[in-house]
Amino acid sequence: MIPANSFSGKHVALFGLGGSGIATALALVEGGANVLAWDDNPDSVAKANAAGIATGDLRSADWPGFASFVLSPGVPLTHPKPHWSVELARGAGVEIIGDIELFGRERSRAAPDAPFIAITGTNGKSTTTALAAHILKSAGRDTQMGGNIGRAVMTLDPPATDRYYVVECSSYQIDLAPSINPTAGILLNLTPDHLDRHGTMQHYAGIKERLVAGSGTAIIGVDDIHCAQIADRLERAGKTVIRISKRLPLTDGYFADGTDLMEAVDGRYTRIGFLEGIGSLRGQHNAQNALAAAAACLAVGLDLGEIQSGLQSFPGLAHRMEQVGRKNHVLFVNDSKATNADAAAPALSSFPRIYWIAGGLAKEGGIEPLRSYFPRIARAYLIGEAAPAFSATLGEAVPYEISGTLAAAVEHAAHDAARDGHGEAVVLLSPACASFDQFKNFEIRGEAFRQAVHAIEGVTPIGGPKP
Ligand code: ADP
Repeated sequence: MIPANSFSGKHVALFGLGGSGIATALALVEGGANVLAWDDNPDSVAKANAAGIATGDLRSADWPGFASFVLSPGVPLTHPKPHWSVELARGAGVEIIGDIELFGRERSRAAPDAPFIAITGTNGKSTTTALAAHILKSAGRDTQMGGNIGRAVMTLDPPATDRYYVVECSSYQIDLAPSINPTAGILLNLTPDHLDRHGTMQHYAGIKERLVAGSGTAIIGVDDIHCAQIADRLERAGKTVIRISKRLPLTDGYFADGTDLMEAVDGRYTRIGFLEGIGSLRGQHNAQNALAAAAACLAVGLDLGEIQSGLQSFPGLAHRMEQVGRKNHVLFVNDSKATNADAAAPALSSFPRIYWIAGGLAKEGGIEPLRSYFPRIARAYLIGEAAPAFSATLGEAVPYEISGTLAAAVEHAAHDAARDGHGEAVVLLSPACASFDQFKNFEIRGEAFRQAVHAIEGVTPIGGPKP
């Protein structure tokens, strides 16, 4: 745990007592703060009490007496409208911050040189965070990974000069971290997402920009217009900006040429690494993630050899284009995290011959946006509530069956793929749907797929436990 020593002796209000809220409250108490915590859910309040945290309804608290208000990132700060606790804090002029801000202040106080990589973006945050942490760890660095992935940031080990932090930041967390100042900040990409919680695209992009604006080195994926403009703006303001692109040959920066990772300096190119043969980093989207992780690791002092060796041993994250088994020429891939058409596109674009398991609880727009990938689909196996709607979209373009259940879909897809005579065939679960009609969440759906695959006679399982 990281004791929040910079709050010693201060009165702090805290709202939101989920897992990270309780961890943050305990870090404040450990650092010597007087914490008064609350949540709208009585069960969460009871849990906090059991953990020894003082609780009380913040509606009747003495707000002017608080030095800070610590808010859980899941609680609305601005949209659709500020939570009542936010209104009370604002009314009393109390600063509103989150756990990443607490971490940043503690690092600045105790070990300002501790290398700190922060990652944000609309897509690819978790993969890039896990990859950067893996590269550092495999190069023998004392590495702490957390934030929006895995462990709450205040549960990590305390800052020390030779300790490396890799922290995934959602836009909600950045919104609550006014002084965020990582050694290297990564902004991967920006597409409209969570606008219900951020109002406009401009506001959403503005929040994400803050992470790179505060960084020593700003690493920015310039393949979308919003990020390209942010890179230009920060550079004009005198910031060190490193541009990355999954497709363009840049004049300066890092870009992908197929599976080669290239560095451009003044229009001259050098190959600095490669992704050829790395199963966990297939696809153009992963080239963006790999370039960002590599640029950040370079910024904190690793060499190219250490980076390449980390890339090659990266196990990948569960449920994101995760290879779970192989039988002869058939590869089984679990992409259960793809809960809408946009998220399924990277997997469909990464494999040439696909036996596609799709369906569940459909999102607006269905699979129409995936039409350009239909020629890659040898056959589709439709499950869940979305099956009739998806079959109507596939129409004559793709042969399909309505399998109903995931178990039936795996069995039939494996059977058909085994008879495919066109090189590597991939049985891909990339549902383009939420899971809730048949599974509790996408993780359980992915595990069910893994088990069904491993139960097939002759399948060799791939990989072990994932973070
Ligand atoms: P996040 O943490 O931002 O949700 P993940 O790393 O968990 O991102 O990846 C989730 C899904 O997003 C992946 O299964 C893949 O379909 C897609 N994805 C991953 N990286 C990228 C990227 N750089 N650009 C676009 N889509 C991506």
